[in-house]
Amino acid sequence: MPIDATLPYDDANIFARILRGELPCTAVFRDQWALAFHDINPQAPTHILVIPTGRYVSMDDFSARASDAEISGFFRAVGHVARTLGLVEPGYRLLANVGQDGHQEVPHLHIHLFGGKPLGPMLAR
Ligand code: 5GP
Repeated sequence: MPIDATLPYDDANIFARILRGELPCTAVFRDQWALAFHDINPQAPTHILVIPTGRYVSMDDFSARASDAEISGFFRAVGHVARTLGLVEPGYRLLANVGQDGHQEVPHLHIHLFGGKPLGPMLAR
């Protein structure tokens, strides 16, 4: 079920639990600002989720409340992960779902990083 992105942050959400080490993930990167791990249900040969270490529901919440250091640290991590995985030359796609119409299911900001094959048009027609 898509979430309401205007609700307050829920510390019991699944990515909060992954950040606290209460649930496992297959991590590819972690620093002060971000954690990147493989999606449990990959939609492409490479499907990574990059999440901020701070408590932000969505891109809306993050862009409104995060500090400049958190924002720059997070987006530098996204680029670093893509470079580290060798995705720059073949290309890749980033996606952030927000709220109901965006079909966001987990209420902690996450950027999907897809790659490993030609991804086709941006949205299903
Ligand atoms: P959303 O629809 O919120 O943008 O995407 C949520 C993503 O989180 C989905 O692609 C889903 O497969 C992934 N996901 C949900 N639960 C887990 C989990 O426990 N572990 C991992 N690694 N990914 C998850």
